Amino acid sequence: MAEVVLTGLGKAYADGTRAVEELNLDIRDGEFLVLVGPSGCGKTTALRMIAGLENITEGFVRIGDRVVNDIPSRDRDVAMVFQSYALYPHLNVYDNIAFGLTLRKLPKQEIDERVRDVATMLELSEHLDRKPRNLSGGQRQRVAMGRAIVRAPQAFLMDEPLSNLDAKLRVQMRAQIARVQRELGVTTVYVTHDQTEAMTLGDRVAVMKRGVLQQVGPPQELYDRPVNLFVAGFIGSPGMNLVTARLEHVNGRYWASLGSDTLLLPESVLHTRPALTAHVDREVILGIRPEDMEDAALAEAQDGQILHSVADLVEAMGSDVLVHFPVDAPPASTEDTRLLAEDAGTADLPSHGGSTVLVGRFSPRTRAYEGERIAVWVDTSRLHFFDPVTGSSVWTTTSGEH
Ligand code: ATP
Repeated sequence: MAEVVLTGLGKAYADGTRAVEELNLDIRDGEFLVLVGPSGCGKTTALRMIAGLENITEGFVRIGDRVVNDIPSRDRDVAMVFQSYALYPHLNVYDNIAFGLTLRKLPKQEIDERVRDVATMLELSEHLDRKPRNLSGGQRQRVAMGRAIVRAPQAFLMDEPLSNLDAKLRVQMRAQIARVQRELGVTTVYVTHDQTEAMTLGDRVAVMKRGVLQQVGPPQELYDRPVNLFVAGFIGSPGMNLVTARLEHVNGRYWASLGSDTLLLPESVLHTRPALTAHVDREVILGIRPEDMEDAALAEAQDGQILHSVADLVEAMGSDVLVHFPVDAPPASTEDTRLLAEDAGTADLPSHGGSTVLVGRFSPRTRAYEGERIAVWVDTSRLHFFDPVTGSSVWTTTSGEH
């Protein structure tokens, strides 16, 4: 086991494509770090540079106490698990798992013990004689994991290992990977474009956009305190609602106006985000998580906490109800929101002319019906604010002073 440290890591491909820029990451011994971002953000390239499968253009990769830039992949003592499991079709499960150890010419008895231990851990003991073609997708994936684990490497490097599995199996395997990694305590770098996987697996999550690291931190920190619009919109499902509002200072209080509705900003919000005052009489992008809204009839709503609208779409999910409704304010439109829409496959922003469709996650007791008027309570203590020019989160910095 070892820490993995990336210092000023950069990659330019032969055709000039810059895939990774100035990546600095300090992955602690035993940590599970998830690299996440939309397709093409450079996460696979970063992982392949750690693995030694891609030349490093700038910077350094250190694994344990060795800078490995010039050390070939096979000598880096890391084990990769890919999306395609790359099992040997003519070998049975036992021999697939044992393969790396056999190559290293370890004593037969040691190989046998290690293979059987790993098979037990991954619940593969009953299938050791089977060929890969006679295994389910989940079992094949476990064999691929087994092959990595049995080598007892300094680090696991995983590239979308679950993306070939169906949704239910993915959830099961996710739990298994998390358990095995905790049991073994092996430093793990895991690449995915799936923010749910990132949130549930990572001790820390690193979000990348166009080759550049945006934020790294524990999942909840990214969720609660995203540094910019990109992270805010990428983490969370359904995503954070992002709408353009105007900040006003009237009678000593601060308000965010969205069309004909206004939300009163509680003292606590201004206290934690003093830079907001610099946005008075200007536009600001307001972020509201779906779960921070509720049918006003079910909440202790006060003045300055309510949006009025007509429900566009009501989706009953059983445990909660997603209510889509327009507000009379323009959607946030920045490079980040366009990139997020592209990634989500919704080239069109959720807008109705100059208005924005918000999604609230309501209690199943809601009486909201499609086509009927609704009053929506907003937990104004949990609002997020972003600078419409830079896309940065408005906190204590003076990022809003343009
Ligand atoms: P995905 O999830 O789609 O694999 P990713 O985030 O892992 O995406 P990379 O595969 O690292 O992204 O690619 C980063 C950028 O580098 C992309 O713009 C990609 O087109 C480009 N790229 C990848 N491999 C090469 C290559 N061999 N030559 C030139 N450009 C490349």
